[in-house]
Amino acid sequence: MKIGVLALQGDFAEHIAMLKRIGTETAEVRLPEHLQGLDGLIIPGGESTTIGKLAVAYDLIEPLKQFGQRRAIWGTCAGAIFLSKDISRDQPLLGLMDIKVERNAFGRQVDSFEADLDVPELKQATKTKEDYHAVFIRAPIIESVQGEAKVLASVPDGRIVAAQQGHLLATSFHPELTNDTRFHEYFLSLVD
Ligand code: GLN
Repeated sequence: MKIGVLALQGDFAEHIAMLKRIGTETAEVRLPEHLQGLDGLIIPGGESTTIGKLAVAYDLIEPLKQFGQRRAIWGTCAGAIFLSKDISRDQPLLGLMDIKVERNAFGRQVDSFEADLDVPELKQATKTKEDYHAVFIRAPIIESVQGEAKVLASVPDGRIVAAQQGHLLATSFHPELTNDTRFHEYFLSLVD
């Protein structure tokens, strides 16, 4: 199994390190041809406007959309924004996931926070009982999920922070910045 990480901007190196830790072959994706032979793709956190503009500049929008029709994609934070259909403002999006997202919904950089999340699917898939300690950095929230998309996790006040639509995964937080490999393992379970 080989997993690509979109390496236009953001913390792609941390995702690659995490994938290597769990014994997965990785590749950095910067051009459409880098998608060839990959079984799945992670879109990292960073700045979604920058990732979107660079994806347009490198002719990656259509190839990424096509990749997501068949293969697993996981977007973390800015990556989740980029995967979504609707963010109520104009910036390049892949529009693959039927979710509505609000950028910077928890406030400014200083309002970044950490929280323990109960994620039943994650516990079941990894046969563990511990809550997931999530790191939020100027994070978006998933305002609503539609169609085939379902909620995976919410913060205690009910705001949605993780969603899944078949082989597509979106998290507002950053599993690549922790020592907990369960979300990366969970993503690999969505790859066929
Ligand atoms: N605030 C960023 C955005 O709107 C996302 C932040 C992140 O990826 N940590 O794109």
